[in-house]
Amino acid sequence: MKKEAILYEKIGTKANCNVCNRRCLIALGKRGFCLTRENQDGILYAINYGVVSSSGVDPIEKKPLYHFYPGSSVYSLGSVGCNLTCKHCQNWNIARASVESIYTSEIFPETSVKLAKQHECQSMAWTYNEPAMWIEYTLDSSKIAQKNKLKTIYVTNGYMTKDALELIGPYLDAANIDLKGMSDRFYHEICNAKLGPVLKNIKWMYDEGIHLEITNLIIPGYNDSEKYLNALIKFMVQEVGPEVPLHFTRFFPNYKLVDIAPTPIETLKKARKMAQDAGIRYVYLGNVSGSDGENTYCYECGQILIERNGYGLKDFKLDKSGKCPYCSTEIDIMI
Ligand code: SF4
Repeated sequence: MKKEAILYEKIGTKANCNVCNRRCLIALGKRGFCLTRENQDGILYAINYGVVSSSGVDPIEKKPLYHFYPGSSVYSLGSVGCNLTCKHCQNWNIARASVESIYTSEIFPETSVKLAKQHECQSMAWTYNEPAMWIEYTLDSSKIAQKNKLKTIYVTNGYMTKDALELIGPYLDAANIDLKGMSDRFYHEICNAKLGPVLKNIKWMYDEGIHLEITNLIIPGYNDSEKYLNALIKFMVQEVGPEVPLHFTRFFPNYKLVDIAPTPIETLKKARKMAQDAGIRYVYLGNVSGSDGENTYCYECGQILIERNGYGLKDFKLDKSGKCPYCSTEIDIMI
């Protein structure tokens, strides 16, 4: 399935794509860096429109979104292609794939919304690969989803252009943004991208009132220094807000980063403490089973409010208005 792409300009016979900050100039018959846009006779097509590599019902905690209708189900869809080439990519088999190279199915936006409703999901998420790579499809789908009273979610690397964000933003209720590291060097060496646009987009989404949660995968030797962690924490406190949940997740060897050991648990605990000490209210640890870093605590009285076991809820103690039942502090959470 294909659809004429949005956000491109014709420059002679070439097409200049403006969906993400790569801004590829695509010659006749060629595809952009992400492999999802092809210049056919001077017209740029999104050749992954409706092309779904994986779909299904997930717990919302898997995105991860811990403060957005906890315990609810989300209908998740992913396609192929990505605008980054992270050396540690967990989904490289779809991120680096083309529409022809792996098995996919075709799901129209209307059908995806019907599936979400049939499965009694409260929301839909575009995830697994970078959702901005099929912005045409996610835009059409999110409009239909919101009309059908479903919440809409992007799980994203945040590397889209401001133009793209201004198009999709009004149709998004929530996003988890992967803030991969706090230096241009890290983004350049590990992800083949730049840090600046990601920070700007996080701030834009926050200012627009989109429910935000931030994920940072800590890779030993690459982005685990106190300097980087402090920079990330400072950005969260000063430029976003202490109420935005922060998820530090544990690295495991993957794709092209196979010669590095998993993140020591102590490093993750230290990062969590640094963030808490700086005033971030909700700091979580991901990929660490059985850790207290999965639970939500009241930032005022310290009582446990939501106890999690992996992606499941073991106990939920918030009152109906989202307040701590022990000290009545309003918790920043949608329930
Ligand atoms: S969306 Fe794809 S084609 Fe467009 S600028 Fe980004 S990487 Fe290039």
